[in-house]
Amino acid sequence: MDEDEFAICIACQCPVKDGDLYYEDVTEGPLHAACCGPEPESYHRNGEPLKPGDPIPEPEIYRSLRRLHS
Ligand SMILES: [Zn+2]
Repeated sequence: MDEDEFAICIACQCPVKDGDLYYEDVTEGPLHAACCGPEPESYHRNGEPLKPGDPIPEPEIYRSLRRLHS
């Protein structure tokens, strides 16, 4: 099958696998939750940078698209 469909973490350049906690960065690509620093500047909410005092969003659980078709 096509192995190019892996999402690659923009921080560590490793694939984001099914079940990994991650953030979808709309500008650059996915990012492991574990690869995010504590700074709010690292995070977005609905494509907008967080405002001062905003809580850091919860990470999502990655599901590969391929699984939807099997
Ligand atoms: Zn990573």
